[in-house]
Amino acid sequence: MEQVDCVVVGAGVVGLAVARALALAGREVLLLEAADAVGTGTSSRNSEVIHAGLYYPPGSWKARLCVRGRDLLYDYCASHGVAHRRCGKLVVATDASQEPALHALRERAAACGVLDLQWLDGAQARALEPALRCTAALLSPSTGIVDSHGLMLALQGDAEAHGALLALCSPLQRLRRVHDGFELQVGGDEPMALHARSVVNSAGLHAVALAARFEGLPPPPQAYWARGHYFTCAGKPAFTRLIYPMPDEAGLGVHVTLDLNGQMRFGPDVQWIPVAERGAEDYGVDAARAAPFAEAIRRYWPGLPEAALQPAYAGIRPKLSGPGQAAADFLIQGPAAHGVPGLVNLLGIESPGLTASLAIAERVAELLRE
Ligand SMILES: Cc1cc2nc3c(=O)[nH]c(=O)nc-3n(C[C@H](O)[C@H](O)[C@H](O)COP(=O)(O)OP(=O)(O)OC[C@H]3O[C@@H](n4cnc5c(N)ncnc54)[C@H](O)[C@@H]3O)c2cc1C
Repeated sequence: MEQVDCVVVGAGVVGLAVARALALAGREVLLLEAADAVGTGTSSRNSEVIHAGLYYPPGSWKARLCVRGRDLLYDYCASHGVAHRRCGKLVVATDASQEPALHALRERAAACGVLDLQWLDGAQARALEPALRCTAALLSPSTGIVDSHGLMLALQGDAEAHGALLALCSPLQRLRRVHDGFELQVGGDEPMALHARSVVNSAGLHAVALAARFEGLPPPPQAYWARGHYFTCAGKPAFTRLIYPMPDEAGLGVHVTLDLNGQMRFGPDVQWIPVAERGAEDYGVDAARAAPFAEAIRRYWPGLPEAALQPAYAGIRPKLSGPGQAAADFLIQGPAAHGVPGLVNLLGIESPGLTASLAIAERVAELLRE
């Protein structure tokens, strides 16, 4: 049986960042990926926004790792030539009744250490973005965008340069605890049995199901999936900053993001996926969704032309809270949580997981050192 020091399961942005952090710390790392390329899951199906950290309960992992991860990510992108832009964003109140919630958002952000938000009245906001309709807005100068593929390639290159080995088409099928670590069964074209001292479960949408299959672990929490669709809009971009409505209970609302070429995209909405439909990851975008998208967008951009929205792509959020429940935090289960030395489960790594990836990796390395 092959012996490995540390196995990381899943080569999305988080698994890649974890593999890099462990390799940099001098650990021998094998990164297992079920697909035939890195980053084909949620990591390439998101808004590519570097979040400033406005939305999360103070003290939560989402809040702490978003703020820390944002700073690490800007530094990493600058030092590794990863395309990104600190374009800023406006969170908008579209009528006066939303302004108290906008004030509350500013206070919550301050409690999370985000102190650079600026309050703008409607005229000030329109001076920045003339196409915008709003009564007030919060300007977040430290929000930005990043090329998620470029980031993942840089993380992979860094990890490999420090000795990490990537195995594609290599799904982890079974994990069993033995006295000095774990025995793993890996499927795919070249099935293998491995022995590892440490295992990090970073399998994204499948991390909870994988944790449930680990022999000798307490049962993980229930997983929920929520699809988010995106539309694009041809023509000259109406905005130079990201535009967000007030968040709703399951997501951040249909917002405007920009890609690095300045083109606008809109989304994501929230569509809960029943357990029975989770066999295959369905990323289709039904063109009929354009009508509710247009209605949501016109609240802050009345100038959206008729029939301008084109279906683009979809992503699926790996959530630990369901419809009507308060948003759950990231669940980073180290040995102290489940009692199994050498194992870390990363569960519910939804947004802001891309922003927080380097900080999550730091935390995992810390847990495995302990
Ligand atoms: C619609 C949407 C918008 C978002 N927008 C943002 C945003 O703007 N900013 C932000 O910070 N975050 C955003 N996020 C969140 C962010 O995209 C995720 O948190 C992040 O990509 C999660 O990365 P990951 O590596 O954990 O998961 P994934 O990218 O899903 O990677 C998991 C990998 O594990 C592999 N895998 C699964 N099972 C196995 C197995 N048994 N063996 C081996 N490999 C396995 C999969 O093939 C996959 O490659 C968004 C998410 C969604 C859905």
